[in-house]
Amino acid sequence: MLENKHGKSRFLVVIIAVGVSLLAIANSRSNIETEIQTQLYGNLKDVAAQNDATIERLLEDRQQILLNIAAEIEKQGFDFTTEENIWKIVEWLENYSTLYDCKRMGIIATDGTTYATDGYKKVLKDEPYQYGIQGLANISSTITDQMGEEELINVFSVPIFMKDGKTVKGILYATYQTKEFLELLDINSFNNQGYSYIVQKDGAVVVGSKKSPMYGSKNVFDTMLVHSEDNAEVVEQMRNGMWNKQSGYAELYIMGDRSLYYTPIETEYIHKDWYLFTIVPTNVLYDKVETLLDQQDLLIIVVAVTLFCLMIYYMFTYRSDEKLLRNMAYIDPLTEGHNMHAFRERLKARKVNWGFVVSVDLNDFKLVNSVCGIDKGDETIRRVWDILKDNIGERELAAHGGGDHYVMYLQEVYKNHLMERLQKITEEIEKVPEELEIISIHPYFGVYELKDLTDPEEAYNYANQAKKLVKGDKTKNIAFYEEINFQKIIDNKQLVDSFKSAIENEEFQVWYQPKFCGNTARIVGAEALVRWRKSDGSLVPPYQFIPLFESNGMIITLDQYVFNKVCEQQKRWLKDGKNILPVSVNISRASLYFGNIVDKYRDIARNHDIDMDMVPLEITESATIKNTKVKELVERFREAGFKLCLDDFGNGYSSLAMLNLIRFDVLKLDKMLVDYIGDPHGEQLVSYTIQLSKSMGMTVVAEGVETLKQVEFLNQQGCDEIQGYFFSKPVTLDKFTSMLDI
Ligand code: C2E
Ligand code: MG
Ligand code: MG
Repeated sequence: MLENKHGKSRFLVVIIAVGVSLLAIANSRSNIETEIQTQLYGNLKDVAAQNDATIERLLEDRQQILLNIAAEIEKQGFDFTTEENIWKIVEWLENYSTLYDCKRMGIIATDGTTYATDGYKKVLKDEPYQYGIQGLANISSTITDQMGEEELINVFSVPIFMKDGKTVKGILYATYQTKEFLELLDINSFNNQGYSYIVQKDGAVVVGSKKSPMYGSKNVFDTMLVHSEDNAEVVEQMRNGMWNKQSGYAELYIMGDRSLYYTPIETEYIHKDWYLFTIVPTNVLYDKVETLLDQQDLLIIVVAVTLFCLMIYYMFTYRSDEKLLRNMAYIDPLTEGHNMHAFRERLKARKVNWGFVVSVDLNDFKLVNSVCGIDKGDETIRRVWDILKDNIGERELAAHGGGDHYVMYLQEVYKNHLMERLQKITEEIEKVPEELEIISIHPYFGVYELKDLTDPEEAYNYANQAKKLVKGDKTKNIAFYEEINFQKIIDNKQLVDSFKSAIENEEFQVWYQPKFCGNTARIVGAEALVRWRKSDGSLVPPYQFIPLFESNGMIITLDQYVFNKVCEQQKRWLKDGKNILPVSVNISRASLYFGNIVDKYRDIARNHDIDMDMVPLEITESATIKNTKVKELVERFREAGFKLCLDDFGNGYSSLAMLNLIRFDVLKLDKMLVDYIGDPHGEQLVSYTIQLSKSMGMTVVAEGVETLKQVEFLNQQGCDEIQGYFFSKPVTLDKFTSMLDI
């Protein structure tokens, strides 16, 4: 869940980062575009200003020529009163007309009669006359020539005054073909693709470039609107701007996108407000920077694609990472089943308040690893996992918790049903050793019943606590949490806590239980048995603390302590001139896991100068089952000179075959086997065991012998020594010392 949350937020961060990057790129793209546009418009405006200046200069020049000629006419005092005299003036003008490339020049009399250098005479009261008669110089709109060849012309005109300088006596004019303007207007800018227009402020065309798609139009505004309705807004803005004598940009659609700059032509001779349009196809304007922008677009695409790929890659790896993480988090690598983490999460998610949490463990599994090897150990763990897995239903759970620990959640209502199922599992697991050819393993279970909504972790802990009750128990392998004797746990804790001081204060006492010759009833030896005499005087029997110290490893210290005490005592007896007897000492199987144990025991015996024969060692049988390590240890103990005794033979884990495997000097028949005496089959078994052991050269000791009948039977069967209440219970040192005197 947590990984998922992290994954989602990481994914969100990537999305945001990608989004922000693209936005930033897009924003920078738009900034660049705006910047470029500003620069290009600036460029357009510059070109327009140049054109404007050229045109204004031309108009001014032409007008200036006329003004100069008019001044000359005034100076020479030409007469305007007769038609003949006016023709003379016109004749005089001919040279100027040719010189200045006019279509014609001429004079307009005050009555409107127009005389021309090309011989025409006509009464025309249009623009030149109208302004001229008012004493104003003028450059006319584009009009159709009404005198000569019908074509578009512009007429430049200036008034000629009488001597008073106020009264107009005539008007001098010069006619130019409009098409001459055209050349001027087709400006060599923007790769020859730019062009100009001169229009009046109402949009009426004065003159327009032939290159323009609007060529032939009478009114540009009308034409613009014809080309596209989308131009309406821009046209409106232009109209307003031009009405107010302003300059400005416009983006229009006239057979393609056009960028336009309009600016008023500033000359005093034009009375109808002319405007110069400088126009360029927008794409031409962008031509130079287009590659730049293209490159930028390409960059954006590359960045976007890269980011996209990264995102896909991220998502892909994130998914597989997530899967991997989930696997790592939930799957146990050894069994490939669920692990504890998965178990907890799943049980939590179920929110169940019934059923049983079962903690599963294997007795003696450590021995599988050490005796049969790690591979066999792993194989065992997998095989046991398969059994557990095959024994759970669809709604139930199982997990491997590491080592030989497993956990299950079983949906049973009744305890007896649960126990039947655990019994079946036990049987299946106990068949595994045969299948895998390993030493025997025995599962044991701790059970916690879910009653209320319980935290899975807590439930597992409770089940684990219950499991401890049956660890190493040979008679029972299922324990319920309710069975835990909490007082015992507290007591155990106190025992553990006081162990160290108990050793220091010599609270552990060695008691001796004599062994007798059955026939002669003479003491032939003894077994050292530890007792804990607490400071308050109470005596704690071994069964209350031996298993406890075995489980936490303290037993090693205690075993050595006892062995040391026995050696010490033997030495003292010797010193006191006693005839000492072998006193056997118990070694817990837990002690056997310590590598240098043989050396230590030998050193202790040597330090006390005690013959190894006088301190035989008793090892319990269960620890020796197919245990090659024990075999090796037993051999090393024997090499060191110790006599080895196989304790508790026949108490449930008996294996006659094992006797062949490990050589012991003494076989100790367990009380359980001795108690068979009286039962014909049991007696047969006891008899057979004794015969077999003796045939193998072992001394046979029977322990837990309580009755005469047992003594007699054992004597009959050739049992060498008898240990038991019949002859003597374990006794204190003093008592045993006094027994030695006898
Ligand atoms: P064990 O080594 O099999 O010792 C024999 C146990 O049988 C002794 O119990 C003894 O008192 C008891 N016993 C002997 N004869 C009879 C009898 O006729 N009837 C009955 N009912 N019991 C009899 P104890 O002293 O309580 O010791 C129990 C076990 O504790 C020992 O079994 C041994 O496994 C362990 N133990 C005792 N001392 C030590 C020790 O110093 N080190 C280790 N590792 N284990 C020890
Ligand atoms: Mg013993
Ligand atoms: Mg015993």
